[in-house]
Amino acid sequence: MTKRSTSKRQIEELNPFVIAQRQCDNAGRYLPELEPGLFDFLKRPDKLTIVEFPIATSSGAVHNFVGYRCIHSRTRGPGKGGIRYHPDVTPDEVRALASWMTWKCAVVGVPFGGAKGGVVCDPKQLSPEDLRHITRRYIAELGDNIGPYTDIPAPDVNTNAQTMALVYDTYDMMHKGGNNLGVVTGKPVHIGGSLGREEATARGGLFTTLRALSRGIVPGVTDLRGLAIVIQGFGNVGGIGATLFHEAGARIVAVGDSRGGVHCPDGIDPAVAHAHKRETGSLMGLTGCRNVTNDELLALPCDILIPAAMESQLRGDNARDVQARMIVELANGPTTPEADAVFNEREIPVLPDILANAGGVTVSYYEWVQNNKNEQWDEDEVNAKLKRIMTRAADGVLDKQAEINGSLPALETARQELDRGGSPLDPVDLRTAAFVVAVERVARVALDRGVWP
Ligand code: NAD
Repeated sequence: MTKRSTSKRQIEELNPFVIAQRQCDNAGRYLPELEPGLFDFLKRPDKLTIVEFPIATSSGAVHNFVGYRCIHSRTRGPGKGGIRYHPDVTPDEVRALASWMTWKCAVVGVPFGGAKGGVVCDPKQLSPEDLRHITRRYIAELGDNIGPYTDIPAPDVNTNAQTMALVYDTYDMMHKGGNNLGVVTGKPVHIGGSLGREEATARGGLFTTLRALSRGIVPGVTDLRGLAIVIQGFGNVGGIGATLFHEAGARIVAVGDSRGGVHCPDGIDPAVAHAHKRETGSLMGLTGCRNVTNDELLALPCDILIPAAMESQLRGDNARDVQARMIVELANGPTTPEADAVFNEREIPVLPDILANAGGVTVSYYEWVQNNKNEQWDEDEVNAKLKRIMTRAADGVLDKQAEINGSLPALETARQELDRGGSPLDPVDLRTAAFVVAVERVARVALDRGVWP
């Protein structure tokens, strides 16, 4: 799905890389002094690797697969980003996800660039053995395109700690004799993984939400207690998010996955939902709940809507149906620019992905540090560090929004003096503020390093 009709007359662009570029361009308007050629370089991915390989599947047939790995930027450090297994993986999706990783690492201040990878496949149609072969062959084909100091993968949609163990093992078999643990993060704890990594994306989202609420992002609300939450996606991020937001005192009123969702205004016990999904393979039919479609789920009345599944779920054609008072993006790229415009107009704040879901890469960074030092930190220590970094990052974005919106006339004058075209500057939302923070940080490093040679 790359285009979708928002009304009878309008077609909405859903190519995630086009969207990622638009988000970045919008931020660039608030950085008039940034040299246009340098900005263009910062936006472009450095490298896209494409690999094709056969697998003798357990059905007896040989199937051919295509895999990608994109490094968007290594300006601030090695590439960093997940590996996704999904039928809809495309080069532009991988480019977009890699670029969001660059900006995300800059927003939280971890010393990595941005990368992402994926294999076009449908894990629901493949056996665990097939997936194991795909992982090993994909990593073998990538060869030295990944490495502990060049590009470091992690889990994403349909990959998990077990997949990361295979990534490590495959790379280690090909590079014997060194400490290769740092080649991948999100590993099982007994194979160099960090305590707290599995929960880190959701926990980071919780810390960011708490900070934003305490700073008055939703009028009249200062914490999560009693707030009604709807979560789309019930995997690593959404499933653990349900548990953590519930533990923090919120009421989880609806959860959904790719098969559909369930709604219960009195609240769902996430432990019961997890058990039901484990037993039946689906959330539908959960006792005491009404089954809902994914479209219905996104339009349910609630205080906070948390997209934690895929890109472009909130678009021009459904943003007006959203009844939430705030949106927390735990997925990457769940909101299109058209939906952003609607949420702005309706004064529904959106905590953007490059801030809200950055807890995963933050604890991935801690895992990498532990691997390089041969250490294992306590979970309390990891969570305390995560809380500090997420709170500081949330403050940085909220402060930047206030700073920009308080200096629009001066920015407008600077734009005119430098002869930058385009429409007058509007007040920025949190996404644009986060992009400005990120682009400024990456640009500063690029300028100080200089353009090579
Ligand atoms: P996952 O594979 O563990 O879970 C994905 C969930 O989304 C599943 O419950 C699946 O059924 C559901 N889903 C898929 N398509 C859907 C659809 N069309 N409608 C509704 N639900 C759908 O993946 P994950 O790791 O939880 O990742 C979810 C999102 O969070 C992705 O956007 C990913 O890029 C982002 N993210 C993940 C991490 C991480 O550490 N895993 C970090 C940052 C961001």
